[in-house]
Amino acid sequence: MSMNIAIDGPAGAGKSTIAKKLAKKLGFIYVDTGAMYRAMAYYFLQHGILAEDEKAVAEACQKVDVTIAYEGEEQQVILNGENVNGVIRTEEVGNMASATSIYPVVRSKLVELQQGLAAKADVIMDGRDIGTCVLPNAQIKIYLTASAAVRAKRRYDELTAKGVSCDLEEIQRDIVDRDYRDMHRETSPLKQAEDAVLVDSSEMDAEEVADAILEIYKKAKRV
Ligand code: C5P
Repeated sequence: MSMNIAIDGPAGAGKSTIAKKLAKKLGFIYVDTGAMYRAMAYYFLQHGILAEDEKAVAEACQKVDVTIAYEGEEQQVILNGENVNGVIRTEEVGNMASATSIYPVVRSKLVELQQGLAAKADVIMDGRDIGTCVLPNAQIKIYLTASAAVRAKRRYDELTAKGVSCDLEEIQRDIVDRDYRDMHRETSPLKQAEDAVLVDSSEMDAEEVADAILEIYKKAKRV
């Protein structure tokens, strides 16, 4: 049986940074499920589909094929045959992903893909519903969070380091809105699984968080 580690938590908690580090240390495959929702969102934006128009979203879903490939350790998201990794990291795509991930038709398509990947290999998968819905039997479940102010500042630093001009308050507003939507949607809302370990990274750096999770993993393996 493959070993599965699920990491859930709100936007900007550092899930992908930590999951990538751990995947490297443990020789697991890293699966970024947010990137899949972003790829779908990118398609909707490209085709002028409004997030509120559930019917149009459902129709578009039938035309969307999302798959995953790996270049070295880097996950690549392939949307209808095109690698979209370079275009899905914007705030616009993130907000559209949050607005359209509420629909079961969007989720069921991607959950199937995610479960297939986890069945085949040892994976560290991050997202919002991994421990609760996608991999309820994952051997390790982590709920990684940090205060909204810390998460906004991290995203601000990331964007400015890339030369993108942005506004800290606007980023924090977006983060709070996105959390609210993710936590209050009907289908698979973001919440801590009952058997997940809570890790608050507000006052920890990435290395400390990775070490803390590694300890949880080692302990679980000893039991
Ligand atoms: O993690 P990331 O910011 O890339 O995710 C973008 C959006 O995709 C999230 O705000 C959330 O609405 C949605 N998502 C989800 N379930 C997941 C992963 C992401 O609903 N497992």
